[in-house]
Amino acid sequence: MTSSPPIVIVGAGVLGLCTAFELQRRGHAVRVVDPGGPNASLVAAGMIAPAMESAIDAVSVAHARLFRAGRGLWPAFAEAAGVKLSARPSEWRGGDMDAIASRLAALGFEARLEAGRLVTDEDLQVEPMQAMGALSAHLGDAVIPGRVIGMAQEGDGWMVRLEDESLQASAVVLATGAAAAIEGSPPAASALVQAIQPIRGQIGVVGRALAAHVVRGPGAYVAPMGEGAVIGATMEPGRRDTAPDPAAGERLMEAAWRVLGGAPEPLEIQWRGGVRGASPDGLPLAGPAPDGERLFLALAPRRNGWLLGPLVGAVVADAIEGRTSTYARALDPGRF
Ligand SMILES: Cc1cc2nc3c(=O)[nH]c(=O)nc-3n(C[C@H](O)[C@H](O)[C@H](O)COP(=O)(O)OP(=O)(O)OC[C@H]3O[C@@H](n4cnc5c(N)ncnc54)[C@H](O)[C@@H]3O)c2cc1C
Repeated sequence: MTSSPPIVIVGAGVLGLCTAFELQRRGHAVRVVDPGGPNASLVAAGMIAPAMESAIDAVSVAHARLFRAGRGLWPAFAEAAGVKLSARPSEWRGGDMDAIASRLAALGFEARLEAGRLVTDEDLQVEPMQAMGALSAHLGDAVIPGRVIGMAQEGDGWMVRLEDESLQASAVVLATGAAAAIEGSPPAASALVQAIQPIRGQIGVVGRALAAHVVRGPGAYVAPMGEGAVIGATMEPGRRDTAPDPAAGERLMEAAWRVLGGAPEPLEIQWRGGVRGASPDGLPLAGPAPDGERLFLALAPRRNGWLLGPLVGAVVADAIEGRTSTYARALDPGRF
């Protein structure tokens, strides 16, 4: 008996790993190819934040519903994958409190005023390093170190070319973040990948706790991370460079100390940069590529890759299985 070739997922950021894990737990054979090294997913603060992200970006009711659905999948997904999920309050501090409060209320998120701060229990957090480690451990040998340098349609599937080997695939999922299109991908899929807007983000890692839970305000947030904290994050559209930028760090620090209500004792801060990919409407491209049989996209979640990872994984897995899911249309790569 011959079994069909695996589904090859290109890219092991949060979207690639969540999609691969979802497919694997539905019984599909998968391979995930990634050269390794830092990516946006590892740099992130890991906030699963439908409420605060909706309020800050003043998103539509439909987008907020999708964000809430993304969060809704997390508890069961985290349990299955061994990802540690923290349920702690998140708060907003700052002069524009009324605007944030009324946006949250208009979008149906619960929030309350506590000691002059706006607090919600709607948001969660993961630690990206732990989460990616847990997902990778489940996938085990299915994760192959390497870079995909070309692909070609072959029979009912694809031949995926790495630097020193080729993989036969029954389907391919492109989860390559903000990277360039892969040679051999069909024209409409390539055009979508090329149109992804890079948005650089800088974040500072601190070895000591600065807040017991996520604290946000104008221009910065502070979030717990391990025994310490992260200070985030810039949004710099059009930039793909990841080296720390001292001026951006300075601005973030000033905003963070304003949010916290004062500068802590001198701190050692390790600055890191990552590049988020964004589609024109800020929602991911998840589902079948507009051209190319058995080719799927899991791309461009902007600043909500962690929030939307399990949802993107489920939508892509449904598409591969020929099923339609509730959010397939909103995330359809062919919607533009
Ligand atoms: C500073 C910062 C803070 C953030 N905080 C949050 C947060 O709190 N909550 C949240 O939800 N989101 C957050 N985000 C956004 C989130 O990190 C991104 O939306 C998400 O990581 C994107 O995941 P991805 O899988 O699409 O891309 P990536 O994480 O960039 O992964 C893409 C992968 O594809 C691989 N790849 C590319 N080309 C190839 C190829 N040819 N062959 C093989 N592999 C390839 C790369 O090596 C990479 O590993 C933050 C982002 C930044 C930068």
